[in-house]
Amino acid sequence: MARYIFVTGGVVSSLGKGLSSASLAYLLKSQGYKVRIRKMDPYLNVDPGTMSPFQHGEVFVTDDGAETDLDLGHYERFTNISSKKSDNITTGRIYSDVIKKERQGGYLGKTVQVIPHITDRIKEFIKKDITNEDFVICEIGGTVGDIESLPFVEAIRQFANEQGKSKTLFIHLTFVPFLKSSDEIKTKPTQHSVKELRSIGIQPDIIICRSQQSIPLDQKKKISLFCNVPIDNVIETVDVRTIYEAPISFYNQKLDKQVLKYFKIKSRKKPDLTPWKKITNITLNTKKSIDIAIIGKYVNLKDAYKSLDEALIHGGIANKVKVNLIRIESDKLKTNQIKDKLKNISGLLIPGGFGKRGTEGKIYAIKFARENKIPFLGICFGMQMATIEFARNELKIKKAGSSELDKNCFPVIGLIDEWNKNGKIIKGTDKKLGGTMRLGLYEARLRNNSAIKKIYKSSSINERHRHRYEVNNNLKNEFERKGLIFSGMSPDKNLPEIIELRNHPWFIGVQFHPEFKSRPLAPHPLFSSFIKAAKNHK
Ligand code: GLN
Repeated sequence: MARYIFVTGGVVSSLGKGLSSASLAYLLKSQGYKVRIRKMDPYLNVDPGTMSPFQHGEVFVTDDGAETDLDLGHYERFTNISSKKSDNITTGRIYSDVIKKERQGGYLGKTVQVIPHITDRIKEFIKKDITNEDFVICEIGGTVGDIESLPFVEAIRQFANEQGKSKTLFIHLTFVPFLKSSDEIKTKPTQHSVKELRSIGIQPDIIICRSQQSIPLDQKKKISLFCNVPIDNVIETVDVRTIYEAPISFYNQKLDKQVLKYFKIKSRKKPDLTPWKKITNITLNTKKSIDIAIIGKYVNLKDAYKSLDEALIHGGIANKVKVNLIRIESDKLKTNQIKDKLKNISGLLIPGGFGKRGTEGKIYAIKFARENKIPFLGICFGMQMATIEFARNELKIKKAGSSELDKNCFPVIGLIDEWNKNGKIIKGTDKKLGGTMRLGLYEARLRNNSAIKKIYKSSSINERHRHRYEVNNNLKNEFERKGLIFSGMSPDKNLPEIIELRNHPWFIGVQFHPEFKSRPLAPHPLFSSFIKAAKNHK
């Protein structure tokens, strides 16, 4: 039967609960255990799909098409375990399930309440879809003490009470600040945070202390005494030089060892840390660097393109080159500045996006990369913009556009039923705009003798999607005659999945999001190839 590890956070947010959970998962998986990681988010949105990246960072998409919290991206990258829809739950989802059941008469005669109905539903989620896993790591979003997370904390308290201590473990992550003025490490915030947690019924079994410097034994003893955990279970996590060092650091601090000891399980074998050591080494010691420009709407927000930033870095690791990301905000980009901004870069990337703002700048930048033979990768919206640029400037369709942005354009990009009915372009309707995105894994068949087939070394690929609009397939021959090849298509040959330019060193657009499947220990071939081309360009 599975053992459940609950991870809460205290003192401040952004301490790296996701990274700690993911590192622990790696260490356990690497010892031969079957692990699953899930996230409980205390906000009222049913999923983060409708949230702005300004608010919440990237929306991470799973194979089975769930729009989830970006922490699931960390989990996947560190463990190589594909997350599922059932691995992310929000307060909104829980409440909407309970209210739906109430409307259907599922609680007939009863008053529906947070305890037990909401907490029961949370407990169902914790156990859902678990078969032969050895460990299930559940991270609770937010910080202990928040009103929002209370039902989750209450649910895990009940869960542990029902399953017993031998099947459940509580890890609490806190912050241990260093005060420069007094040259001291302070344990009080940790003590308070644990007090807060205990006041709502949870005694942590392991405390992970995030700190800028190593915590002396005396201070650890203090935390152990005041927080009521064995000294060996006070684990420090000092800021690492690169996130790839995190699994190594947690291993050195014996996090996995203490977890196994708690459950009275013998370690099967030593976790394999060689790959992490190797990429840490490359990351810290690579001297040569290249500049990749990313033009997007949310570039200044740290986590808005998290998986993309990571995938580019993975591509750099594969090519032993440091990738500097030059983030250019599309809103403020004037066409007359583009030449200046792009003339010295090694590659251009236009990421996914929604809405009209800043699109003309992106289109102009793509033209510049196409004409100046600068390696270009267009992802989702980026591919759509590349198609529009080519249609306008090479096919001379001046009104070429996307019906997402301009209802009166010539829809080179459109809702599928706008242009594909009986092979004719017909006018679209607005009624399909809600909840109609193509989400999750879809197959693409790759054309022989194409650049993309050489990159993937396969004629069929499966990649994750998140978009509503598609490239108009009716113009395929016109595009191809001018050198823009539709080199990847959906199996029914209706939906262009990949475009590539002949007579250009590296110009590829993909309708899907390859970044979601890139891993530090297994960089995605598309990013490795893009960075290789960029390295050669300079
Ligand atoms: N806005 C575009 C669409 O819905 C592209 C989406 C994206 O880049 N993820 O098709």
